[in-house]
Amino acid sequence: MLAIRAGRLFDGVSAATVERPVVIVEGARIIAVLAGGEPPAQAELVDLGDATLLPGLVDSHVHLVFDASPDPVGALAGADDEAVLAMMRTAAERALSAGITTVRDLGDRGYLAVRLREETARTGGPEILAAGPPITTGQGHCWFLGGAAATGADGVREAVRERAERGVDVIKLMATGGELTPGSASHLAQFEVDELRAAVDEARRHGLPTTAHAHGAGGIADAVAAGVDMIEHGTFMTVDGAEADAAIVRDIADAGIPIGATIAQKPRPGVTPPPRILKALPLIVAVFQQLRAAGIPLVCSSDAGIGPLKPIDSLPYGPAMMAKHLGMAPAEALRSVTSTAAQACRVGGRKGRVAPGYDADLLAVAGDPLADLAALTAVSAVFRGGVRVR
Ligand SMILES: [Zn+2]
Repeated sequence: MLAIRAGRLFDGVSAATVERPVVIVEGARIIAVLAGGEPPAQAELVDLGDATLLPGLVDSHVHLVFDASPDPVGALAGADDEAVLAMMRTAAERALSAGITTVRDLGDRGYLAVRLREETARTGGPEILAAGPPITTGQGHCWFLGGAAATGADGVREAVRERAERGVDVIKLMATGGELTPGSASHLAQFEVDELRAAVDEARRHGLPTTAHAHGAGGIADAVAAGVDMIEHGTFMTVDGAEADAAIVRDIADAGIPIGATIAQKPRPGVTPPPRILKALPLIVAVFQQLRAAGIPLVCSSDAGIGPLKPIDSLPYGPAMMAKHLGMAPAEALRSVTSTAAQACRVGGRKGRVAPGYDADLLAVAGDPLADLAALTAVSAVFRGGVRVR
């Protein structure tokens, strides 16, 4: 039994911190959270001093196969599976060291993230939730990851079945084109709505959630109509900007579908986002503000791997961006990378909170992130499944 004492605790939900908390851990689980007081005599005490304890962070959108170089697609194409797996292993360790104790991989090649999930379950590492290769159209967004489905509802169902048999945790659907894929267009829909419906229906038969990559309004509307469990990006990008459609926003809100705002990035001097994105950014921010105003749950994620500003340890920078651009209070911004993210990933019953019965995935940082979100990057300790890994 372990007793972890710290200066204060953000439990993943409440805006009010617990002062001088003692978190009691038995095995891989939290069994009690005490507000002050003395730990049980039989527990081994870890005193983290003035640090703030939080739930380990949940990044709901990463790509472990992409190396965050200027050309992640080219780099991947030139590497064999064993080399890619070695790189993914290092990335997973780096995520964990930054306090990201759960990563949801929304697009790999050859089910490598599923392989790494099996490996880290034995050897240690962050909890990995894996989608396998994203389901896309012939030459559609990320086709080079190998996930192009045969056309029509039957083809898409077959693609979902294959992934279920391979043991994925979630089905990723490319509902629109994307910036990473030449010849695809972010504002345009890729599938027929009936194909998306078939995918969602087949996924449910296997007990799997679905999430749809969707930028343009048409693809977003189709994904909502198909009943997806989550939408990635949700930027409402147009051919040269971004503009929300009020009726579709209402439909998303009515359906209670969370949106993964993939805005977290790690600042690097002299590096800026691609010009097209940079130009659209203020408009995308305005879209996210409208989504938030409509009461849609916003999850902060990174899309880690897709470029130099998106290394695997980008997520801790996200909450400060949510606060700055969307006006979120610190607690709401912190929820967007803990409890809200965990719920959106369907692991909200065991991740994203510091509470009895939850996995003992914990992050400790110097200072108080509720006073200054920048404190989130001042990591002083990380626990994963009750084991201190930093
Ligand atoms: Zn992505």
